[in-house]
Amino acid sequence: MKILIVDDSESSRLLLERLLSNAGYADVEMADSAAAAFQKLGMDGPSTPSTEIDLILLDIVMPEMDGIEACGKIKAVDSLRDVPVIMVTAKKDDGNLQRAFDMGAIDYITKPVNKVELLARVRSVLKLKNEMDRRMEVTRHLEAANHQLQLLSALDGLTGIANRRHFDQTFDKEWRRGLRDEFPLSLILTDIDSFKAYNDNYGHQAGDVCLKRVADAISAALKRPGDLVARYGGEEFVVVLPETDKNNAAILAEDIRKKVASQKIPHGFSKAAEVVTLSLGVATAIPSRSHKPAGLIEAADTALYQAKHEGRNQVRVSH
Ligand code: GH3
Ligand code: MG
Ligand code: MG
Repeated sequence: MKILIVDDSESSRLLLERLLSNAGYADVEMADSAAAAFQKLGMDGPSTPSTEIDLILLDIVMPEMDGIEACGKIKAVDSLRDVPVIMVTAKKDDGNLQRAFDMGAIDYITKPVNKVELLARVRSVLKLKNEMDRRMEVTRHLEAANHQLQLLSALDGLTGIANRRHFDQTFDKEWRRGLRDEFPLSLILTDIDSFKAYNDNYGHQAGDVCLKRVADAISAALKRPGDLVARYGGEEFVVVLPETDKNNAAILAEDIRKKVASQKIPHGFSKAAEVVTLSLGVATAIPSRSHKPAGLIEAADTALYQAKHEGRNQVRVSH
């Protein structure tokens, strides 16, 4: 571990260094003033200070800036706040020490330096620092893992698009935003035509591949960053279109229908076409307190049912 000794007296610096190196602390840096210490800590550069230093031994009485003020300046830097500072003082008066502790010093030793006292304090502070670093590391790992989990828990495992849970959250959020802004909110609910026959004839694995290709085609049809496609259930997908009126939602639904059909995934057993196709239901509402959000889903579902009923491979819009 790296230790920085800050003392204006050369003999003090050398004594401290010798005591530390004799005890096995070989990695020691020295500064003869507060300014020199700030430089070593990277505090006078343009970028965020960062340091390898694990402990600072800081003399209180120094010309220009004293150790207490220097300690305050170091502790005021976010990235250096956790570097422990032990004050080295010839003065035993409590007022000075109180100020040093107020500035964030963790401990102190008195001059003339007693070897046993110095090593005991250095050891215990470094042990604490070590433990803190380890915990910080664990926390960082946990945060990264947590972030990853959150991303995964929003995605559908098969298709890689958003899952039902993520849709529920997004739809709820967009509904509430619509309440505030009074913009129209549109939904497209869509279902693959004759998908049971596809599975029965080509196998479940081919069915899975087909689901992925359909999900990709729908995603590719969306253009605005706020638009969301999610897997709603089995072979059903839902698209949330914030700030989108009925006409534009219907146009997009037709784009999606064409995009999926143009993939030309052969389907010799469909009631609708020679290839895999979608039926789509579109519904739009300006969110208001007198309507329930579930009503919008029901309206899109009813339109979808009509599309199925009237021959599949088509878009129906709720009125
Ligand atoms: P329609 O045109 O009226 O929608 O008929 P359909 O055959 O598509 O509808 P139905 O609801 O009868 O069948 C849906 C099929 O979707 C049945 C089920 O096996 C299949 N399915 C649902 N989820 C998955 C999945 O994750 N993978 C695969 N391969 N098939 C799935
Ligand atoms: Mg279905
Ligand atoms: Mg279906």
